[in-house]
Amino acid sequence: MITGHLGVAGAAHASRRDSSLPWLLAAAMAPDFIDALFVVARQCNPHGLYSHTVPAAALLAVVFGAVAYYFTGRRATGLLSALLVLTHLPLDFITGRKLFWPGAEMMGLRLYDHPIGDFVVEAALVLLGWWLMRRRQWAPRWATGRAALVWLLVFQIAVEAVGTARGGAKPSACGEPGVGALRRSGPEGPAAA
Ligand SMILES: [Zn+2]
Repeated sequence: MITGHLGVAGAAHASRRDSSLPWLLAAAMAPDFIDALFVVARQCNPHGLYSHTVPAAALLAVVFGAVAYYFTGRRATGLLSALLVLTHLPLDFITGRKLFWPGAEMMGLRLYDHPIGDFVVEAALVLLGWWLMRRRQWAPRWATGRAALVWLLVFQIAVEAVGTARGGAKPSACGEPGVGALRRSGPEGPAAA
């Protein structure tokens, strides 16, 4: 799931006046940021082992929640941030197929295989979050304008197009030569994805 995470963060912001939207948006995407860091560092993160499994997300939720609380001084931002990191996993379960526990089977409903269905689900979450924020006077203007909604939906269409063309929108360093150390340690390689 991509933009759907942001929709859920918007809904969370609409629920609490004293929450910080930028922190909530970042928290909702945090496991994917970790994925991106692994790609930038050219390290293999097999099937999201260090970002999308329950222990990894639990650790990330605690760290992210604490950092968000430290920088904003608002308990609501800290708690909602931690909650959004955890919510990332069930949402990704709907759209993809991932490792949710180290050493367990890969799981997921693979909605990505049906780009139109995936777009409908993600667009519905984006629309819901945007609409809920629009009804709150504390939500920032940049997030509640029509442009924000249009940009997110266009971005999601681009994600579906790239994902369909390449068999997955997310880059991974696991297939690169020289970063196969983790791959060799297990009987199954990430190539199975
Ligand atoms: Zn994810």
